[in-house]
Amino acid sequence: MNSKYKFETKTIHAGISPDPTTGAIMTPIYQTSTFVQSAPGDHKGYEYSRTQNPTRTPLQKNIAALENAKHGLVFASGMAATDAIIKLLMPGDEVICTNDLYGGTYRIFTKIFENYGLKFHFIKMENVQDVLKYITPKTKMLWIETPTNPMLNVVDIAGAALIAKKHQLKLVVDNTFASPYLQNPMNLGADMVLHSVTKYMGGHSDVVMGAIALNDDETAERLAFIQNSCGAVPGPMDCFLVLRGIKTLHLRMQRHCENGRAIAEFLASHPKVNKVFWPGFPSHPNHDIAKSQMRDFGGMMSFTLKDDCIENAKKLLSATKLFSLAESLGGVESLIGHPASMTHASIPRTEREKAGVSDSLIRLSVGIENIHDLIDDLNFALKIC
Ligand SMILES: *Cc1c(COP(=O)(O)O)cnc(C)c1O
Repeated sequence: MNSKYKFETKTIHAGISPDPTTGAIMTPIYQTSTFVQSAPGDHKGYEYSRTQNPTRTPLQKNIAALENAKHGLVFASGMAATDAIIKLLMPGDEVICTNDLYGGTYRIFTKIFENYGLKFHFIKMENVQDVLKYITPKTKMLWIETPTNPMLNVVDIAGAALIAKKHQLKLVVDNTFASPYLQNPMNLGADMVLHSVTKYMGGHSDVVMGAIALNDDETAERLAFIQNSCGAVPGPMDCFLVLRGIKTLHLRMQRHCENGRAIAEFLASHPKVNKVFWPGFPSHPNHDIAKSQMRDFGGMMSFTLKDDCIENAKKLLSATKLFSLAESLGGVESLIGHPASMTHASIPRTEREKAGVSDSLIRLSVGIENIHDLIDDLNFALKIC
């Protein structure tokens, strides 16, 4: 059923059918670790919930459908999904990645996987051809985030896919910031799409989860093997919550985009604001690429103040009432954050500054509240900073 329907129908229906035993329209929470067999090996497709669970299966199918992929797998967190993908590699293999990566991704690459003989190159990819300089016979994977966190840089996915194909690299796209509503990397030639489902897909700040979508049967089988062997699976209750959250993904994203645009424009015209990083502005260095690969520009943005000092940034961060000071993003409520001391604190200052994450950079995840209330909140906070 997946390819027949449009996105807004797939969020609600793809992979989901009424419960066969009762007709329940909502997928039940199969809160069970094991499944009774009528004779040894004679079961209904489920044996043990680490391997498979009937609340998890529809969610995996649904996410695959939203990314126009054949296979979907969900994990206990975005980081667990990242962990599984990197376990496809062998000691000695090299990965080329975007330099302003999510802090946790940078941390697992450098602090965990470098210990196992893998090598990671962190480079600017605003011009994707820059990747070519780092490709060696050991390079096996290209890892990109677009838009990036927190600088909202945009990487040309189709361009990266051409390079990956030519050099037989796997192209992984962390699509967390865009969500499958705004961007489908598989359509542009990616091999794997990764999500922190915790963010827009779950959408209600009540679940931590990760997902991978892909087409290749052999890699999907290997990832399912890793999922089952390493065991970082989400529980059935969390799968239920995400199935429910995804049903409104398209509606939420529309409002995130509308509110995002209004806030970006408000900030850009405010006398105390220096620079606003948001891919929807024609002045954004990769605006044209963003326009060609994204349906809209989303509700994530960062900005700096004209009076560019950390004390000033801190005043603003503590003064907003609707924008809550917290890590994470993509929920219905608006959040404000300070990458240098929060999400990106695990990246050394020199690396951080190379990527443009200055001490006064402020990041917003614009929620779906009333836009006038949100602007009033920022306006008030900007007055006292
Ligand atoms: C949050 C996030 C992750 C990690 O996901 P968790 O669900 O927190 O483990 C990875 N990539 C990006 C872009 C993120 O924002």
